[in-house]
Amino acid sequence: MDVKGHAALVTGAGSGIGAETARALARAGARVAVLDLNREAALAVAKEIGGLGVECDVSDAKSGETAVAAARAAHGPSRILVNVAGILIPGRIVGRDGALPLEKFARVIEVNLIGTFNMMRLAAADMAGLEPLADGERGVIVNTSSVAAYEGQIGQVAYAASKAGIAGLTLAAARDLARLGIRVLTIAPGLIATPMMLTLPADVQKSLTDQVPFPSRLGHAEEYARLALHMIGNVMLNGETVRLDGALRMGPK
Ligand code: NAP
Repeated sequence: MDVKGHAALVTGAGSGIGAETARALARAGARVAVLDLNREAALAVAKEIGGLGVECDVSDAKSGETAVAAARAAHGPSRILVNVAGILIPGRIVGRDGALPLEKFARVIEVNLIGTFNMMRLAAADMAGLEPLADGERGVIVNTSSVAAYEGQIGQVAYAASKAGIAGLTLAAARDLARLGIRVLTIAPGLIATPMMLTLPADVQKSLTDQVPFPSRLGHAEEYARLALHMIGNVMLNGETVRLDGALRMGPK
C-alpha cells in the first residue's frame, strides 16, 4: 500500500531504528504514533515529525491496549504496525555466579517475543475493521528479528530465542491473518549503527564491521526504514523474514 494518508504505529520509536522508521513513514505522508517505554523520547520524536508520542510497554497487555486506543483516537485505526521495540540482556547459561537467573531469560522473551505478538494482535484487530484497499489489503505488520535468530552468539541464548520466535511466527501469522487482508513480514538486521552500537569503542566497532563481507561497515537505521517502507509498499511480499546484514554470518563470539 501507499503509506500516504494512512495511520501507522511504530514501537520502540523513541530511539535508533524505530525513530528512523517513524521519520521515514512521516516523510512518506503517514500519520505516525511514536510508541516507546521512554515517554520523553517518544514525545521528542513525535514533536520532530508532527506525530503522536505515546508511552507504551509492549510487553504489557493493558499498556499496549491503552497506547493503541490513544493512537486510534488521534489518527483513526492504523493500517501499518512496525514492531521495533526490543532489549538485549546478555548472560551465559552458567556464568560466574551460577545459573542464569530465570527472570533475565523471561524478561527478554516478554519484551521481544510476547511484546511483538501483543502489539500485532491489537493492531490486527483494528485493521480487521477497516475497508479493504486495492488487492483486498487491509494492513501490514513489519516485525524486527535479528541475525542472532540464526547465529546466536555466546551469551545470547535469551535474545537469540526471542528473535528466532519472531522469525518463526511470521509465516504462521501471515497465514492466520490472510483472510483479513493483513500481511506480516519480518526484518532480521545485522549490525546497525544505533546509539547503543556507536557507544562501543572504535576498535570493537572495527572488529565487528570486519566480519561484514560487503559493504564492510555498520548498517544505517535509514536502510532498515527503507526496507520496511518497501515491504509496506509491495503487496506481494508476505510471510517472509529478510536479512539486512551485508552477508554477515556471525561466529560464536
Ligand atoms: P534502541 O536504540 O535501544 O531502541 C529500542 C527502543 O525500544 C528504546 O527506545 C527502548 O526504550 C524501547 N523499548 C525497550 N523496551 C521496551 C518496551 N518494553 N516497550 C516499548 N519500548 C521498549 O535499539 P535499536 O538498536 O534501535 O534496536 C531496535 C530493534 O532492532 C530491537 O528489537 C533490536 O533487537 C533490533 N536489532 C538491532 C540491531 C542493531 O545492531 N542495532 C541488530 C539486530 C536487531 P528504553 O531506551 O527506555 O529501553
